[in-house]
Amino acid sequence: MRVTDNRYAAEMDRFNLAVRMIGHEARTGTIRQCTGFSEDRIRKIYGTYFKNEHGNTVRRRRGKTPRQIAGFLISSRQQSEATVLGCFFIYSGLMLVGLEGGLAGRSRLNGLQLGERFCDAFETYLSLHPQPQLCFERGWSLYHALAVEQELYFASCAECFGLYIQDRYALDYQHCPFCELKAAV
Ligand SMILES: [Zn+2]
Repeated sequence: MRVTDNRYAAEMDRFNLAVRMIGHEARTGTIRQCTGFSEDRIRKIYGTYFKNEHGNTVRRRRGKTPRQIAGFLISSRQQSEATVLGCFFIYSGLMLVGLEGGLAGRSRLNGLQLGERFCDAFETYLSLHPQPQLCFERGWSLYHALAVEQELYFASCAECFGLYIQDRYALDYQHCPFCELKAAV
């Protein structure tokens, strides 16, 4: 393959990722981080492929990604879905979890790989949750809280020995959201 062919293929990969992320209503800043495209380029892609499409329900989001972690732990359902998505981050190679302490670290990935693998994980999560509690950007915050800031970690349940996400600085009762949900049935 010639150099120009490689460049074209890489550009197509970035373009396809931008379209995929816009479809999930990712924020412009998040799309920029993964594709390296300018805000203007992303706005044009949205305008060409989404804005005037019949029945379009995709909105273009601006501003910063919300970063509060409390929302992930506010109910057993939120916590269980955040745990499931967190596991898909591991399966898709976005992050690695240490054997001690359950802390996650991010994998060495470039922007394109990060975006593609994140979309893989998020789309798998969506396929299992017809009424998802977490949107794309909340998922992006979850990834940062787990793998970058490490404010969240994988705790272990004393009852079923399963892993679940927990606030690293909060008191942990070693009781996972899945056991909570089973007990409530
Ligand atoms: Zn449990």
